[in-house]
Amino acid sequence: MKVRDKEFEVYLDETKIQQRIAEIAQDINEEYASKNPLFIGILNGSFMFASDLMKAVNVPSEIAFIRMASYKGMESTGNVKQVLGLQENVFGRHLILLEDIVDSGLTMDEVIKFFQERGPKSIRVATLLLKPEKLEKDLKLDYVGFEIPEKFVVGYGLDYNGHGRNLKDIYQLKEA
Ligand code: 5GP
Repeated sequence: MKVRDKEFEVYLDETKIQQRIAEIAQDINEEYASKNPLFIGILNGSFMFASDLMKAVNVPSEIAFIRMASYKGMESTGNVKQVLGLQENVFGRHLILLEDIVDSGLTMDEVIKFFQERGPKSIRVATLLLKPEKLEKDLKLDYVGFEIPEKFVVGYGLDYNGHGRNLKDIYQLKEA
């Protein structure tokens, strides 16, 4: 499968992905029965995971989406990350953050800190994919779909230069 200029091969097929999402939803259904969780999807990559997970969740719940924007601080040399798009009041809520992939963990670390400052009752994290070898932050990841090796993946919401998000399966970059 070619995405832009690179060759990819299937790594996790649709059936496997959907089975694992059903298991995660089952856990959430048991653990959040009367908690009215507020799911927070992190755009763009989590949109398919968020959609399929929500379809398998059967407890009363809500969903909102945020996006992380990187910008260069005026005086700092490094990239500063900012959370955009939150309209809901998260104070006192049970939050479940939804991410497509946790790699270094820097993004999720920032997102968790952002929400911790806003007084939710609890925060849990659900990520479809985790690259454990690359993780730099000590994060508590409550629901992990699949632990994967340190290779670039695309599909099921994940992109390569903007392409491939629509693929039903998850593909891994083919070695040259
Ligand atoms: P982190 O901050 O954990 O290093 O990176 C998280 C973000 O990097 C993800 O939300 C995703 O956008 C991107 N990313 C990390 N690894 C991959 C990968 O293998 N494929 C794609 N498409 N994006 C990735």
